[in-house]
Amino acid sequence: MKFDPTELSAIILDRDGVINVETGYYVKSIAEWRFLPGSVEAIARLSKAGYPLFIATNQAGIAKGLYDEKILNDIHRLMIKGIEEKGGKIAAVHYCPHQDQDDCDCRKPKSGLLTQIAQQHHVDLSRALMVGDSLRDLQAAVSVGTKAVLVGSKQINLEQHFGDLANQIPRYKNLAGFVEDLLDEYSKETE
Ligand SMILES: [Mg+2]
Ligand SMILES: [Zn+2]
Repeated sequence: MKFDPTELSAIILDRDGVINVETGYYVKSIAEWRFLPGSVEAIARLSKAGYPLFIATNQAGIAKGLYDEKILNDIHRLMIKGIEEKGGKIAAVHYCPHQDQDDCDCRKPKSGLLTQIAQQHHVDLSRALMVGDSLRDLQAAVSVGTKAVLVGSKQINLEQHFGDLANQIPRYKNLAGFVEDLLDEYSKETE
């Protein structure tokens, strides 16, 4: 295990491809929302282990006019309800509503969403960990000294993008796999 769970002060999750199924062309309505297998239970385990949990998600579909912030908030209410029903808790959801050409500071791989979380919720990013399924999640995390974990099946050459840091970015099949590794190791260490 690459991380000492007792050193982690917060865990930041990407949304699409980590918590829910990426539909291929944005989640544009609550009808398109589907949790990934095991993700809700994994989030609940992290909450019960005491980690403050945040979501940092790019939502360029808003800039593209595919859905508006009201629909996004409805989707997030549905997500939070599903998570809370299993005993999980999300401290805050931060999203970027822009697209690449807007050149904002918050769209990952930029770090604005993470610094928002740090400032608004007093999170020490150097002791936080980001779980993402895309290169841009990892880049955002690494740029502010946050630990990074890759989940999912996207082909990403970590060595090419991160050089010597690549071996500090473990890869798991999904969020559930990461959480199992993190917390099982933790219980072993404290026995
Ligand atoms: Mg994603
Ligand atoms: Zn933005």
